[in-house]
Amino acid sequence: MEFLPSRSAAINKLDQFIENNLSQYAKLRNFDYGSKKRNNISCLSPYITHGVINEIEIIDKSLKKFSFTKNEKFIQEILWRVYWKGWLELRPVVWKDFLSDLEKIKKENSNDLNYKNAINGNTNLECFNEWVKELKENNYLHNHARMWFASIWIFTLKLPWQLGAEFFLQHLFDGDAASNTLGWRWVAGIQTKGKNYIAKEWNIKLFSDNRFQNIKLNENAEPIFDNRTYSSETKIFENVKGIENKNLIIFDNNLSFETSDFQNNKFKKVFLASNENQNRQIKLSEKNIEFKKKLFEDQKNRLLKESVECEIIDIKDLKDIEENLIALYPSVGENLDYLNSNNLKNISFLYRKIDQFSWKYCNKGFFNFKNYIPKIVQEFI
Ligand SMILES: Cc1cc2nc3c(=O)[nH]c(=O)nc-3n(C[C@H](O)[C@H](O)[C@H](O)COP(=O)(O)OP(=O)(O)OC[C@H]3O[C@@H](n4cnc5c(N)ncnc54)[C@H](O)[C@@H]3O)c2cc1C
Repeated sequence: MEFLPSRSAAINKLDQFIENNLSQYAKLRNFDYGSKKRNNISCLSPYITHGVINEIEIIDKSLKKFSFTKNEKFIQEILWRVYWKGWLELRPVVWKDFLSDLEKIKKENSNDLNYKNAINGNTNLECFNEWVKELKENNYLHNHARMWFASIWIFTLKLPWQLGAEFFLQHLFDGDAASNTLGWRWVAGIQTKGKNYIAKEWNIKLFSDNRFQNIKLNENAEPIFDNRTYSSETKIFENVKGIENKNLIIFDNNLSFETSDFQNNKFKKVFLASNENQNRQIKLSEKNIEFKKKLFEDQKNRLLKESVECEIIDIKDLKDIEENLIALYPSVGENLDYLNSNNLKNISFLYRKIDQFSWKYCNKGFFNFKNYIPKIVQEFI
């Protein structure tokens, strides 16, 4: 499986998926048939994470083919990501605590043999080793494999979840602060307190098409205990006024300016701010950095074609751009952390309309959010 780093590749993937596989999505989405057969799911996450293609255009196209009822599961999954983002926006301390726990745990565990064997795919579990290989080679794992992987990491290999979450972020092309951190917390049993996800041999066999044998797991593990509670902050995601003719900064989560809510505004110049490893706490794999670089190039070329003046710059050079800066909101994660810790707090943000509208429903659980999905779809489609 290949992820070509361009918007045209993303659109092509979406069109093929809608045309040939969307109708079977709800029935087949939980099956992981292996990296050579991935057409039962969309594989759009590396593009969605980078904003190369956005949730509204995906839902819009899917609804041109099938009714809302027929599409409901797919739309729910697409909006699950928006929900996780909003949930973390309202509780940014969860991300901060994850990073500071990680720093401490790394100091204690970086030479641990059990940990080294896990990240080198050298355990006595064939399936786990296979997923490590797939993660490093293809920079993607099926959702069910992510759940099994995280569960085995935490409950069978007994490694700290924070190290596993870091390992995913280093290699996944779709690595995202919200979906990843909250996905790992959910498996551990701290996102929904006391409810952990236990990977079971029969389940792996059934949903991986019987590709693996000898799956001996700890199937009776207790949830991880974490007594910190995070209440939802009251936040208003309001756009700054008077944006015309200012410089606009775009980070690696919004790489399709020409389809954004601000495409019709006139900016002086667009700066595409890339964030290399020296300014990240979690160091990305070379392939991941390369993927991001190519997506930046692709965005730049598309903008130049439309005669939008633009330039790719390193995030550390933002301080040299004079005048008040405006940025498409990078959302909770390493880009925002960089701005906050490098005296760039006076940057004003522009939020996507879908986030402004949806994030107000993210203060409770996903089952509550789900009630608002028809309303969200109606608002934007
Ligand atoms: C431990 C763990 C870590 C994860 N880390 C990430 C991550 O870093 N980045 C990321 O984008 N997703 C993450 N996910 C969610 C999910 O696994 C991926 O979004 C999905 O596998 C991407 O494949 P797809 O595009 O083929 O999904 P499809 O099934 O085709 O779904 C379409 C889109 O819906 C969204 N989506 C689907 N399932 C989920 C989900 N469970 N949570 C949030 N959004 C979802 C994604 O944007 C996806 O591209 C994680 C899940 C777990 C359990």
